[in-house]
Amino acid sequence: MSKAISQVPVTYNEPVRMYEPGSKEVESLIGTYKKMYKEQLEIPMIINGEAVTTDQKVSIHPPQDHQHSVGFYYQGDMSHVDRAIESALAARKEWSALAWEQRAAIFLKAADLIAGPYRDRLNAATMIGQSKNVHQAEIDSACELIDFLRFNVEFMTELYAEQPISDNGIWNRVEYRPLEGFTFAVTPFNFTAISGNLPSCMALMGNVVVWKPSDKQIYSAHVIMEIFREAGLPDGVINMIFTDGKETADKVLAHKDFAGLHFTGSTSVFQSMWKRIGDNIHNYRSYPRVVGETGGKDFVVAHKSADAREVAAALVRGAFEYQGQKCSAASRAYISASIWNEVREFMQEMLESIKVGSPEDPSNFVNAVIDRNSFEKCKGYIERAKQSNDAEVIMGGKYDDSVGYFVHPTVILTKNPKYESVCEEIFGPILSVYVFEDENWNETLKLVDETSPYALTGSVFARERYVIDEAAKALEDAAGNFYINDKPTGAVVGQQPFGGARASGTNDKAGSKMNLTRWISVRTIKENFVSPKDYRYPFLG
Ligand code: NAD
Repeated sequence: MSKAISQVPVTYNEPVRMYEPGSKEVESLIGTYKKMYKEQLEIPMIINGEAVTTDQKVSIHPPQDHQHSVGFYYQGDMSHVDRAIESALAARKEWSALAWEQRAAIFLKAADLIAGPYRDRLNAATMIGQSKNVHQAEIDSACELIDFLRFNVEFMTELYAEQPISDNGIWNRVEYRPLEGFTFAVTPFNFTAISGNLPSCMALMGNVVVWKPSDKQIYSAHVIMEIFREAGLPDGVINMIFTDGKETADKVLAHKDFAGLHFTGSTSVFQSMWKRIGDNIHNYRSYPRVVGETGGKDFVVAHKSADAREVAAALVRGAFEYQGQKCSAASRAYISASIWNEVREFMQEMLESIKVGSPEDPSNFVNAVIDRNSFEKCKGYIERAKQSNDAEVIMGGKYDDSVGYFVHPTVILTKNPKYESVCEEIFGPILSVYVFEDENWNETLKLVDETSPYALTGSVFARERYVIDEAAKALEDAAGNFYINDKPTGAVVGQQPFGGARASGTNDKAGSKMNLTRWISVRTIKENFVSPKDYRYPFLG
C-alpha cells in the first residue's frame, strides 16, 4: 500500500558518449565487442521467468561476416505461444495490483543498469547482431532505451496526476487501470531501443506481455531481457518468445483475452494483423488497443535559398547512417536546380571519405545491411537504375557480399519523379534525387505530398521564412515528424515525440504520454459524501 504521493527522480536525456579514437570509452566497447564476438551464446526463450530451450537451434550470424557464428537461439512453436499467454495471464493479478512506485523502480533500475554496468554489453550486442557502428549503437541501445525507460516513468506519474474536478459534497477520481487480459509486443530488427520499449512501456502501466522480437534482433533482445530480470521484473510479466511471426499472430490475435497490440515494423505486416483483429472482433472480452508504427519514404526538400553544404551533410547523415535502415531515413530528395551542382559536389566529397566495413573498426561510417534479402533488394534497385532510361547511379552503386552484406552509399538521380526508387521503401543506403526548376517550388511541394502513401518524417531546407512557412503548410499531413533545416532522423525521447500517419502508422508517438494512454483503461469513481434521502427534486415543489 502506497502511503505517500512519491515523486520520481528528475528526468533528463542520457548524455551520448563520443567514443573518440584512443579514448577509454571506445577501447572498452571494442574490447567487449571482440570478446563477445568470439563467444558462442545459447539464447533461450523466457517464459514465466524460465529459460526455455527446444531441439530447434538457429545459428546467429553477424551481418558483417555471414560465415561467422556468435551462437544460436532456440526456436519455439505454437505450444510456446500458448505457454507465454498462460504465464502472462497468471502473472496479471499480482502485477496489476502492485503499487506504481514498485513498477517504476524496476524500470528506473533497468535504465541505470544500461547506463552503467550493461552499457558496453548491450551496445556490443547491437553492433554484432544488427551491424551498427559505435555511435549508432550508443544513440540507440544505450541512450534511447535509457530515455524511454526514464521518461515513461515520468509520463506515467503525470498521467496518474490528471484527475477530474469535484463539486461540493462529492469526490471524483479516475483510476488508470491496466488493460484486461494480456498485451502483445511485436518488434522490428532495426532499433534495440524500440525492441525494449514496446513491451516495457506496457508492463510499466501494469500490463502483462507476450513479446515476440524480430528473429534478426534476438542477440540484443536477449541482453535486454537479462537486464529486465536483473532489475527485478517478476516472472511472467514479460514473456519473450522466438516463434514464427505469422503463426504467432494468428494464435495470439484469436485469443479472447488479447487486449492490445504494440507493433513496430513494416506496413504490410501491420495491415495483415489489423485485418486479423477485425476478423476476430466478436471473440474478445474488450476492444483491443492497436498501435503500429510502420514504414516510411522520408523526404528532404531543398529550396534555392538553402545552404548547399548543410543540405549535403543532412542527406549524407540522413540517408546513409545505419545503412539507411531507419524508418526515418531520408530516401528521396527534391533539390532546387540552382543549388544542385553545389549540393552534388559537397555530397561527392563527403561520400569519398566514407569507409564501409565491420563495426569492429570504429572508423567505418557504414556497416552491413541486415541480411541477404535486404542485400538482394538493394542490389536489385541499383542494377535496375543502372539499366533504366529514367535514372542513373551518380554515386556509389557498389556492393559486395563475399564476407558481409555490404552495400555502398548510393545516389540515384532521376528525371522521373515517380521512378520506383523515389516511391518505394527500400530500407537500405540508397537515396533518390529529383532536381526541380526553381520556379516550380509550389508544384514540387505538391509532388512531395502526393508521391508516397507514407507520412513518417520529412525535412525542408530554406533560409527564407515565408518559404519555410509554405512548406510547413503544404506538407502538414506528409510527415508526423517534420524538420526545418535538419536531417529527418534522430528523434530524441522527450524532445521530438516520434511517429507517423497515413500508411506509416497510428501516430501514437512512442515514448510519450500519448502512447501510454493506449495501455490503460480509465475507471471513473464518483463518491457522494451526503447521499439524497428522497427522490423529489426542488422543481416538484
Ligand atoms: P517486419 O515487418 O519484417 O518485422 C517486424 C516484426 O513483425 C518482426 O518481429 C517480425 O518477426 C514480425 N512479423 C513478420 N511477419 C509477420 C506476420 N506475417 N505476422 C506477424 N508478425 C510478423 O519489419 P522489420 O524488417 O523488422 O523492420 C523494418 C520495418 O519497420 C520498416 O518498414 C520500417 O520502416 C519499420 N519501422 C518503423 C518504425 C516507426 O517508428 N515507424 C520504426 C522502426 C522500424
